Amino acid sequence: MDVESSPKKVHAAIREARRRGLTIGCVPTMGALHAGHVSLVQRARSENDFVVATIFVNPTQFGPTEDFSRYPRTLDTDLEFCRGAGADLVFTPQVADMYAAHAETIVRVTGLSMVLEGAHRPGHFDGVTTVVTKLFQITEPDRAYFGQKDYQQQLIIRRMVQDLNIPVTIVTCPIIREADGLAMSSRNRYLSPEERGIAAEIFQALQLADRLAVGSAVSPREIAERMRAHLEGTGGLSVQYAVVADSQTLASQETRIGGGSGVALIAAKLGTTRLIDNQILNYSVAE
Ligand code: AMP
Repeated sequence: MDVESSPKKVHAAIREARRRGLTIGCVPTMGALHAGHVSLVQRARSENDFVVATIFVNPTQFGPTEDFSRYPRTLDTDLEFCRGAGADLVFTPQVADMYAAHAETIVRVTGLSMVLEGAHRPGHFDGVTTVVTKLFQITEPDRAYFGQKDYQQQLIIRRMVQDLNIPVTIVTCPIIREADGLAMSSRNRYLSPEERGIAAEIFQALQLADRLAVGSAVSPREIAERMRAHLEGTGGLSVQYAVVADSQTLASQETRIGGGSGVALIAAKLGTTRLIDNQILNYSVAE
């Protein structure tokens, strides 16, 4: 496995792989890797001849009061995870490798970026779409792998590659969870033992939504209210949103009419740690 921080050298290595007729799979990450990231690299390994993982804590997707400077950086163990999962190349650029001082171009998905995460984290998705475009330019992947954990993010990336005719197939991979259901996240390591116990209630709220979707005729609006009540009944959690939305447009879903499915999305703060999670809802009973 090669490790390379220079965009030019990575581009050249990928060009060489392409010249040899290999297909390229790309897994963008911010490092502090866990089993969720590993599942993406393994999926890429199973579907492509050449796998490039990227590790870059992207400053432009953090707000001024967010955790950029304290975001966990664990490069040595990250590289071991990548090696174990079968990556051929790990791209580890520095900020100066990715952003020239005079850079003034951003990529923005205008509508989808403004709601939910975008409303709570202004500018966040501009940072994501800009850096992912740059990573796609550098790695020219046939397929790129994203987690359903960041549901809105993968929708936005899908929109972006369609809108900009970027010739890459976006593959969305299932959420990998801890034994108690908490979605794995690099930020989970911020949680105190007490907060860690409470955090699994987010998954419990999503499970409640799932049960109501499958086994009752309760409306999406009421499912969202029940999720919120569950979360607000849990001491220590501060809910930012708990919604049931159309799985493609993210518009709030009021009734089951017009669709057999939706997506439940939650963002909550636990102390200073912000957690997100989601669950596809399949309405097996009509309203
Ligand atoms: P991050 O390093 O947090 O930017 O995440 C890099 C990629 O890993 C994104 O596509 C995430 O959606 C994905 N990811 C993060 N956590 C998980 C998880 N628990 N299960 C599956 N994919 C994940």
